[in-house]
Amino acid sequence: MKYWFISLCALTCHLFAETSFDVAIIGSGPAGLTASIYAVRSGLSTIVIEGKEVGGQITLSSKVENFPGFPQGIEGLSLTEKMREQAKEAGVDFCSEEVKEVYLLGYPFLMKTSSDRSIQAKSVIIATGATPRWLGIPSETALRGKGVNTCAVCDGFLYKGKEVVVVGGGDASLEDALYLSNLAAKVTVIHRRKELRASKVLQETAFAKKNIFFIYDAVVEEILDVKKGFVEGVVIKNQMTQEKRQIPCQGIFIAIGHIPSSYLFKGQIDLNEEGYIVLEPFSTKTSVQGVFAAGDVADPKYRQAVVAAGFGAMAAIDAFQFLQKVKTQKESE
Ligand code: NAP
Repeated sequence: MKYWFISLCALTCHLFAETSFDVAIIGSGPAGLTASIYAVRSGLSTIVIEGKEVGGQITLSSKVENFPGFPQGIEGLSLTEKMREQAKEAGVDFCSEEVKEVYLLGYPFLMKTSSDRSIQAKSVIIATGATPRWLGIPSETALRGKGVNTCAVCDGFLYKGKEVVVVGGGDASLEDALYLSNLAAKVTVIHRRKELRASKVLQETAFAKKNIFFIYDAVVEEILDVKKGFVEGVVIKNQMTQEKRQIPCQGIFIAIGHIPSSYLFKGQIDLNEEGYIVLEPFSTKTSVQGVFAAGDVADPKYRQAVVAAGFGAMAAIDAFQFLQKVKTQKESE
């Protein structure tokens, strides 16, 4: 009898669990969590669909030292936990599943999760982030966070007075090299071609720096030393001559591009050539009314936690204003 009652409760809870919200936020990094805090505090029923990697990229940072309010720095995971706790206390609902399908071309919007749960929402904030592109060599994976980095602004400070390598030939690699040249003793940019892809202005600025060196036509074959558990150099191979050599360094920054997590929305909202969500200038509005985007999925340039958080706040304000307009229109009909 008792068992039957509990089962019925569970079934009832499942059947009648809230499935319709004012705002559904896809993604649980700083953009998504900040958006949720703002949305719920403005009186909107809010759900965060957290995804597989709860907390996003920042949870991989062992220490975040540039997020205001934490003078001693904070672990990426702890920062996310604090944001999540704040959101939960404010009344945000969480769904710890991935979104498998979205329907943004009908209204209200509809999302289906990995367990086939349907979530309806009057507005959607996409905060799915972007993932750095990796070289794909085993030593890179083994030494990630132990000298292998993807964010110069986040981790460059650790290499004050040291030697670092930057991989890539685009704008990001030269921006990273320039940033690092103010901290590190020596920066070596390794690019797989003869010519850089970066803008001429960035190239000229980087060429003028005395501590930035360039190696062309070369690929990184191995990062040393996995056995020691820290970075002490890289083995590079010249693509023309096949000659291999070692470059000593204490850190390596992989700057070969990012992949925005936007594949779910392809064909429903406007994406640019690289897959980033296109926004109206100075807003978080996408090409679909009522759908907003925040953070790295719409930001190929800044890619900082604090920027993503600010972006999240903007998206929640835009969503609130959209819902107010919808409400006023309905009342006047
Ligand atoms: P990107 O322009 O796509 O450049 C990626 C670089 O990495 C290219 O040089 C590419 O080589 C190299 N690469 C790709 N896969 C590689 C691999 N497996 N091994 C070795 N090298 C590899 O990416 P990004 O520099 O991150 O820039 C992304 C976008 O943001 C661009 O539109 C850029 O203009 C923009 N951005 C602008 C600024 C700025 O305006 N200040 C700053 C940062 C980024 P190849 O050249 O051989 O393809």
